[in-house]
Amino acid sequence: MHPFAISPANDAAKAIAAHALDPELAFIAGGTDLIGLMKDRAVLPERLLDINGLPNMARIEALPGGGVRIGALARMSDVAADTEVRRRFPVVAEALLFSASGQLRNMASIGGNIMQRTRCAYFRDETDGRCNKRRPGTGCAALHGFNRNHAIFGWSECCVATNPSDLAVALAAMDALVIVRGKAGERQIPFTDFHRLPGGAPERDNVLDRGDLIVAIEVPVSVEARASHYLKVRDRASYEFALVSAAAAVATEGGRISSARLAMGGVAHKPWRVTAAETGLRGVSLDDVDGLRSAIATSFVDARPLAHNAFKVELAQRAALRALQTAGGRL
Ligand SMILES: Cc1cc2nc3c(=O)[nH]c(=O)nc-3n(C[C@H](O)[C@H](O)[C@H](O)COP(=O)(O)OP(=O)(O)OC[C@H]3O[C@@H](n4cnc5c(N)ncnc54)[C@H](O)[C@@H]3O)c2cc1C
Ligand code: SF4
Repeated sequence: MHPFAISPANDAAKAIAAHALDPELAFIAGGTDLIGLMKDRAVLPERLLDINGLPNMARIEALPGGGVRIGALARMSDVAADTEVRRRFPVVAEALLFSASGQLRNMASIGGNIMQRTRCAYFRDETDGRCNKRRPGTGCAALHGFNRNHAIFGWSECCVATNPSDLAVALAAMDALVIVRGKAGERQIPFTDFHRLPGGAPERDNVLDRGDLIVAIEVPVSVEARASHYLKVRDRASYEFALVSAAAAVATEGGRISSARLAMGGVAHKPWRVTAAETGLRGVSLDDVDGLRSAIATSFVDARPLAHNAFKVELAQRAALRALQTAGGRL
């Protein structure tokens, strides 16, 4: 195990300044991803700053207009069990409940969840093979290696990894905002802009800079949110990451979809919002399975599967259809 020093933070401004100045320092919250990455020697910070003592960052607040604000230090299990989150945003509560295990959810924070790194086996491999995300410039072993769990959208020759967070898929569908405090003060990042595509710099998962601390996530009210559902397809029924997943939400008028939100997980380096499908779904009846299928298919014409994951193209569309139907059943 890589040796490190750990100290507690109790002042957000000082924590941000320390992180901005020291490239060998990492924030630690629940530690459920970071410590694993250190054991795998994928990241080797010299100093950990324990942010669990920072004030006012673990609250879950129902906002007056119908949204919720979730502190970055709120635990996954607390958010999943929160009455207002469950009532207002079932898709968020379900994405959390389908994640990891009960013990991990008790420990893991919301901020840490959206920061978690890919489960690509080459990235996590302590033998330190070819991986541009782990060691930039070394190549991508998955591109022509075993890539069953990898991306079908948005990948580059430099990296074909997927984002593993279930919650992130639900938050992308809900157009959540990431509230970040940094050197220049506080800013809001639309969730769909928070994670990056790999391009030529796959070592960067998201748009945060050094000194950026996630303080909260805000999920705004929407007409579709209450009729929402998260569907996760995985190799075993629990304690497993998604092969593909779908976060769906719908509103209807006169029995036809008036608006839909649909985001896919397990298919790209970031949660993948399928906007062409959302447009095509407008006006389709929830009983018209062929109509729903063909609207969803419009977002999959540009899928680029790899050698071992062509099955995801069909599987993801089926997951999207089932998630939409289940969401619609909640109207
Ligand atoms: C066996 C196993 C199975 C799992 N299965 C799933 C699953 O099915 N679905 C799923 O979604 N997840 C799964 N996970 C991942 C788990 O959800 C994450 O490990 C967890 O959410 C990370 O939260 P944490 O608080 O422990 O983060 P930490 O490990 O403490 O931190 C993770 C990263 O986030 C950074 N960070 C933490 N908080 C902040 C902040 N406020 N601002 C800026 N940076 C911050 C840290 O510096 C670090 O880089 C699994 C994990 C394990 C170990
Ligand atoms: S897919 Fe990305 S994370 Fe996996 S080996 Fe290639 S560069 Fe590394």
